[in-house]
Amino acid sequence: MNDSGFDRYSRQLLFAGIGPVGQQKLLDARVTLVGCGALGSFQAAALARAGVGNIRIVDRDYVELSNLQRQWLFDENDAAEAAPKAVAAKRQIARLNSTLHVDAAIADLTAANADELLEGSEIVLDGTDNFETRYLLNDYCVRAGIPWIYGGAVGSYGITMPVVPGRTSCFACVYPKPPSGAQPTCETAGVLGSATALVAALQVSAAMKWIVSGEAPTGITTVDVWSGEIRRVEQPPPDLACRACGRRDFTWLESRRRTPISMCGRDAVQIHELTRPVDLAELAARLRPLGQVRCNEFALRFETPPWLLTVFPDGRVIVKGTTDAAVARSLYARYIGA
Ligand SMILES: [Zn+2]
Repeated sequence: MNDSGFDRYSRQLLFAGIGPVGQQKLLDARVTLVGCGALGSFQAAALARAGVGNIRIVDRDYVELSNLQRQWLFDENDAAEAAPKAVAAKRQIARLNSTLHVDAAIADLTAANADELLEGSEIVLDGTDNFETRYLLNDYCVRAGIPWIYGGAVGSYGITMPVVPGRTSCFACVYPKPPSGAQPTCETAGVLGSATALVAALQVSAAMKWIVSGEAPTGITTVDVWSGEIRRVEQPPPDLACRACGRRDFTWLESRRRTPISMCGRDAVQIHELTRPVDLAELAARLRPLGQVRCNEFALRFETPPWLLTVFPDGRVIVKGTTDAAVARSLYARYIGA
């Protein structure tokens, strides 16, 4: 570390938990962020300011005006040009700490590219918006022995939990199955920027502590920024019967799940990743404030220009208006729920 490094990080060097040795570990560290929305953009900025030397940002989406309320790193120019989030994040980080190495990957994390995107990470931070990607991330990290920090937020509520393979329960221990039925999402129930920032701040602290000490604060922490309630419950130990960390069955890495299919010549993508039924009437009620909804017992059609989503009771969705599977999956996560 040179003199400007000592100056830049002086308040962190004074902190007993970090000091010069810890700061050097941060400068040498390699961290991957999966998803660069509300959680990921806060994580990226905080890690960059703290001097984490190698940051890879993976995101499949682009910046929109409605992101700016909570996605700390982006500005009106990014939204006006619909910049890919990973690229916009890298550009903004260069302005606040030009000494780091940032790698922007415009990609949807899948079984096929997980190795390429996650290999060599010291720790991975979750900034995703759906259970499927988290199961995939969990399978990869448990198999590779890489810790990752789960985080999620909706409304004024947030949750975070570290997964340290071999030491703590993993994501599949705690959530053996995705929640059934349509779930509230940030697009249907809204989300406060203070809730996502708080969750992301806890994730960043856990990552920094892991990097400097090889320990992470364990426990499942839930927060509600509207009521002011913060709770922490003990995290169970690894479950011997767990599919992932117990039986080491890494289903999500083996692409046994159905993948999105571009529908030839139709400017549409079919998504059928889940095998759970959807209550169309309930979904219609949630989507009605957001666009035009037509619904009968066979299908629900939801129009949010330029896209048209057709949802079938078995959970299958056809997204018209794109041939890009990443865009279709993003719309699916937004409106149907993870
Ligand atoms: Zn497990």
